[in-house]
Amino acid sequence: MAVEIEASRRLTYYAAWVRETGKSIILEAAMAKLFASESAKRVVDKAMSVHGCYAYTKEFTIERLYRDVKLGELYEGTPEVQKILIAAKVLYAR
Ligand SMILES: Cc1cc2nc3c(=O)[nH]c(=O)nc-3n(C[C@H](O)[C@H](O)[C@H](O)COP(=O)(O)OP(=O)(O)OC[C@H]3O[C@@H](n4cnc5c(N)ncnc54)[C@H](O)[C@@H]3O)c2cc1C
Repeated sequence: MAVEIEASRRLTYYAAWVRETGKSIILEAAMAKLFASESAKRVVDKAMSVHGCYAYTKEFTIERLYRDVKLGELYEGTPEVQKILIAAKVLYAR
């Protein structure tokens, strides 16, 4: 879980750094968005397992995160759309 979070953070920071240089970040942003949103789902899923049955109660934030994390995939471009952008950049623009 820590590795996935760290990898997401680094992809995101890298995209931000490229943006600071004034270059296009379509590829870097799409990779960061795809990986971070999908890994967030995996991390929350594992956190659910760690919490066991308590994960379903409103006493713990995890039940809220489990519902919310899907939205991170949807807005500002679904995984399928990010993959289309990445494929176009990797195949044709490099
Ligand atoms: C909480 C939330 C906040 C949002 N905030 C904003 C916002 O601030 N601004 C804004 O503009 N929009 C916002 N949206 C809308 C969001 O961007 C769209 O819901 C999203 O782009 C999906 O579009 P859609 O719902 O029309 O589904 P569709 O486009 O119909 O997609 C349905 C499914 O088909 C897949 N799909 C679509 N086209 C392709 C393709 N060419 N190839 C392969 N698969 C494909 C998608 O990945 C998805 O799984 C928000 C959505 C949510 C849930």
